[in-house]
Amino acid sequence: MTTETRHILSLSGGKDSAALAIYMRDRVSGMEYVFHDTFKELPETYEYLDRLEAVLGTRIDRTTPDESFEHWLAVFGNMIPSSHRRWCTKMLKLKPFERYVGDDPVRNYVALRADEDRTGYISTRPNITAVYPFKEDGLVRADIIRILEESGLGLPKYTEWGRSRSGCFFCFYQQKIEWVRLKQTYPDLFEEAKRYEYANQDKYRPFYWCGNEPLAELEKPERMDEIQRKWEESRGKTKGTKSRRLLHILGGADEDEEGEKDGCLICHV
Ligand code: SF4
Repeated sequence: MTTETRHILSLSGGKDSAALAIYMRDRVSGMEYVFHDTFKELPETYEYLDRLEAVLGTRIDRTTPDESFEHWLAVFGNMIPSSHRRWCTKMLKLKPFERYVGDDPVRNYVALRADEDRTGYISTRPNITAVYPFKEDGLVRADIIRILEESGLGLPKYTEWGRSRSGCFFCFYQQKIEWVRLKQTYPDLFEEAKRYEYANQDKYRPFYWCGNEPLAELEKPERMDEIQRKWEESRGKTKGTKSRRLLHILGGADEDEEGEKDGCLICHV
């Protein structure tokens, strides 16, 4: 254990925490960058972290969970995680983070923006103090996009096929349209997610990632068409109204990011 305060920035694989890493690079010396790998991440996340390492000119540490997702799934009675059963974040992200920190006094840099009102899900250990530089300095989404563009890093490549946020490929926070895009882009990952829904089938009943709709229903061509059509209609409606915030227009692809008020700050920032 050290008595000196360590400075740690957890990267999610998303744009906001990447921008914070770049923002803090010349502001805090000795910053430790760390990524908590669930081994269920999107391929583009690893690629983005590699490019971020090059931009930062320093290594990003990687933690691994004590046990695999499949192990914890079995421990939790084959109930896949959800916003009400968020054991995934605890076991695959938070515990590895706390093990990495140990008992050392730590300032934990969190990439919550000034234009967000999320509360989030972060460690509450007494030796860990969360700090919010973007909030403190009033940085909003347009600033984050600017930081990323000026650094040459840009946005994660999963945004090119329509995924709005980082995290596990099966994350229950994604919208139905994102499941459609996952199926189209990574059918093997979609199949894997589908298998987890039925892990519990023998004893009780299946649990679904996406509300009451099994992925086996969602992937039917007519249903995927319907989801796509509804998404396009909702976008069309929002486009012409004042409710579509200027930041969305400036910020590009991630309108889907809304609606996650109590999300995982360690997964999706
Ligand atoms: S990204 Fe989603 S599924 Fe993965 S640990 Fe975080 S909340 Fe759970």
